[in-house]
Amino acid sequence: MNRLALLEELVSCESPTSDPQATKACQQLFGRMVRETLGVEGELIEIGGVTHQKWHFGGTPRVLLVGHLDTVWPHGTLARWPFSVSGDVATGPGVFDMKAGVVQALQALTALADLDGITLLLNSDEETGSTTSSQLIIDTARGMRAALVCEPAAGGALKVARKGVGMYGFAVTGRAAHAGLEPERGINAGIALAHALLGITDLGDPAAGTSVTPTVIAAGTTTNTVPAHAQVALDVRAIDPAEFPRVEAGLHAAARNAGVAVPGATVEVTGALNRPPLHPSMSAELFAKAVTAAADLGMPALQGVSVGGGSDGNFTAGAGVPTLDGLGAVGDGAHAEGEHVLVSAMPERAALLARLIEATR
Ligand SMILES: [Zn+2]
Repeated sequence: MNRLALLEELVSCESPTSDPQATKACQQLFGRMVRETLGVEGELIEIGGVTHQKWHFGGTPRVLLVGHLDTVWPHGTLARWPFSVSGDVATGPGVFDMKAGVVQALQALTALADLDGITLLLNSDEETGSTTSSQLIIDTARGMRAALVCEPAAGGALKVARKGVGMYGFAVTGRAAHAGLEPERGINAGIALAHALLGITDLGDPAAGTSVTPTVIAAGTTTNTVPAHAQVALDVRAIDPAEFPRVEAGLHAAARNAGVAVPGATVEVTGALNRPPLHPSMSAELFAKAVTAAADLGMPALQGVSVGGGSDGNFTAGAGVPTLDGLGAVGDGAHAEGEHVLVSAMPERAALLARLIEATR
């Protein structure tokens, strides 16, 4: 197979997450590539109007390869920034995150003598939190021996841990009143929110890697009205799964205290855990196997890093499946203008993935 020709065709098929028709077309294109290379038909799975795709290559499912075909780039990006190769560097929208990783996965499957026990799952909404595909990923992964995530490597290193992400909020309800004529008849939702915010500042635990960050804060309608409503969005990240119930309990306590501080105000805690953590204990065994495989292939010593951002590897780890991430392309600039991959690293990383599959199933 000509990996560069496949990569060019895939990158040239624009697939912003926001356009389900475009991502479906990209799924169909890659489906054709798999059919022509491996002779296996994928199953297109539509959930909430978004089309994902799964290939099972026979036998009892034991190893799951995970990736996505959507990108953060809107339609029209290709017109000013088409796929191109210069020396060892290939660039284009979505090439690093993560169309080169998808091509490498196909290359790895091509290298294997038989594909028994392997499932490949590519979703189309990873970049917006996999809202329609997370349950499919969890259901597909459950009970498998390993989930190998073909997201980009980090400076060549594999991703052995990812923080979990929770998106929470406070919605405060008070009572409006004229700020000049009769402010005493109002219940100030903004003041109640301020009390709630002060109550949550201690919930973060930098030593444990837990952050609780108020982000979008809003209250009030006009400059002469006591605000009847106020809200805040909270970005919560942690590496230890036990931190989320602790933080949630703290949020509810802060909400109750705010209602006491401003009598009559009610504070509702909204939101939930979006992606559970990929704890390093879930990747340790697979990472050791990857290090051995890399040494067997004569590659430089592999590094493992912990990152703050989430991926679908968080869902597979949350489902209790050993998970290793960052097995995709080597390059740089995810989500940034000029993202690129190293062409020469593609066969080596594909070989690493193939060996890891062999060592796991
Ligand atoms: Zn990605």
